[in-house]
Amino acid sequence: MFLAPILKTPEQVDAIGRSARIVGLALARVAEALKPGITTAKLDAFAEEVIRDYGAIPAFKGYNGFPATLCISVNEAVVHGIPGSYEVREGDLVSVDCGVLLDGWHGDSAYTFLVRDVEKPKIELCRTTFESLEKSITFAAPGKTVGDLGHFIQKYVEMRGFSVVRELVGHGLGRQLHEPPEVPNYGKPGRGAVLKEGLVIAIEPMVNMGQRFVRTLSDNWTVVTADGLPSAHYEHTVAVTQSGVEKLSDFSAVESAISSNPYLMPLYG
Ligand code: MG
Ligand code: MG
Repeated sequence: MFLAPILKTPEQVDAIGRSARIVGLALARVAEALKPGITTAKLDAFAEEVIRDYGAIPAFKGYNGFPATLCISVNEAVVHGIPGSYEVREGDLVSVDCGVLLDGWHGDSAYTFLVRDVEKPKIELCRTTFESLEKSITFAAPGKTVGDLGHFIQKYVEMRGFSVVRELVGHGLGRQLHEPPEVPNYGKPGRGAVLKEGLVIAIEPMVNMGQRFVRTLSDNWTVVTADGLPSAHYEHTVAVTQSGVEKLSDFSAVESAISSNPYLMPLYG
């Protein structure tokens, strides 16, 4: 069944923006705390504290039974990793996905952190994933389709020798964490839902260093690459405006926390 996307009023877009900004602050708290030896459970606790301090609710906790505030997916884990006793190591790629519910509205954003020292090809993987997201946001505009977006991301990624995960996609969001339309990171131009003013979507390329294939671990959550090679994930909640697309989540707090954490590598420089 085709479900029509739910368009939001400017006030509703603002409310989603407030939620998405808290996601950014929770991710920034993770960026402050990340270092070799810290457990992913500890990072999860820090993020939950930030979210609750703002009077918001961790949206992932209890979602389809997911047990934590964050999805933390290390190296070959693509998404949906469960925080726990794993201790972060030098050279890890740590993908952190966070969802927040504030006043009935959701925000959703993700960032892959590089724990010093990360090898060159893994830095390239992260840069490509990040750039495919940023450039797709610049490319997006009302009248284009989600297929145009997916095609753009896929082309950007594959031209650089990496691959796009197909089993997991971006999504609309608002009252629900996942709403129509689906926003694949691959596809054909002109296909799928048309971007319209008031549409709020999460764009979230998941990019593998090797082949695109994935499998799910026996915890029934963690999605890993089938070939065991690393994967990266960046995500923004964005709103379609009259003339383009506006980011509702932002990485400014995350980036400043990275630059003052000696254990983390910035994406550039
Ligand atoms: Mg997310
Ligand atoms: Mg999402």
